[in-house]
Amino acid sequence: MSKVGHVHGWAIGLAGLVTFGLIVGTAVAHGKPVHRTSPSGPSATATATARPTNVGTVTRHATHARAVSTPARPTGSARPSVSCRNGYVALSFDDGPDPASTPRLLAALRRAGLRATFFDIGQRVAEYRQLAHQTVAYGNAVEDHTWDHRSLTGASTRAPALTARQVIAELDRAKRAIVSATGRRPQFVRPPYGDTSAAVQRLARMLGLIEVGWTVDSNDYTGISTRQLVATVLQVRPGGVVIMHDAGRIPNTLAAIPAIAAGLRARGLCAGRLVPSRSGTPGWEHGTFYAGPAAW
Ligand SMILES: [Zn+2]
Repeated sequence: MSKVGHVHGWAIGLAGLVTFGLIVGTAVAHGKPVHRTSPSGPSATATATARPTNVGTVTRHATHARAVSTPARPTGSARPSVSCRNGYVALSFDDGPDPASTPRLLAALRRAGLRATFFDIGQRVAEYRQLAHQTVAYGNAVEDHTWDHRSLTGASTRAPALTARQVIAELDRAKRAIVSATGRRPQFVRPPYGDTSAAVQRLARMLGLIEVGWTVDSNDYTGISTRQLVATVLQVRPGGVVIMHDAGRIPNTLAAIPAIAAGLRARGLCAGRLVPSRSGTPGWEHGTFYAGPAAW
């Protein structure tokens, strides 16, 4: 693509980023985050149809990652965390990028000295390339949250499970959009709604992606207060992963960031990045979340 083409394609995103503190009115009416963490648990999702040609056999043995530290970059916060005596946790934000939320969230994280993992939706990355690029430029990771946020197993959406070919397309198309926008290859995938199966995990691995769930659901999409949100997030234990959202209007999530940073500091925890791990601790519902704090 020509440089001119790039500029045209990114015009809206750039307009919102040139002056980072000013949020321009380019927000698409995105509404609430599209991610709905599974409220039903594995017993309910186990009813998903399991056909030989699809990937609907649901399991929850999904995550193979741990949180580790990330060194501050010159472009990062002026005040990186210094005491990580009790280890690391990963803060993750799903469903972006979104002009309504991402610039503000990146600014809030930077001000608080935090870095996070963004599980971005591929088609949104393609639409808002500059926001995904900026997310990485600010020292965060952008990972795979499928191309269009379809349930891969259909468990949460009462839809037929995707075929293996469809799952590969969902994961790979998003992966390629992220590489194109950020220059970084995603290592991890978070299946929308947490709907996964042994087949999904196998297909993800084929594409070089490790599935990641969460150990703490912030419930930020439910409209809970900032105070409740902070209290929920700070339940995270060393090596844990918190899920929040980066989509639409997220005033309580933004307002919670400074208190989350302060709370982690008070507990001797640092926000780290995700890296693959073979050892784990109990985590995501009935599965095993492979997580362990380690310094980078
Ligand atoms: Zn989601």
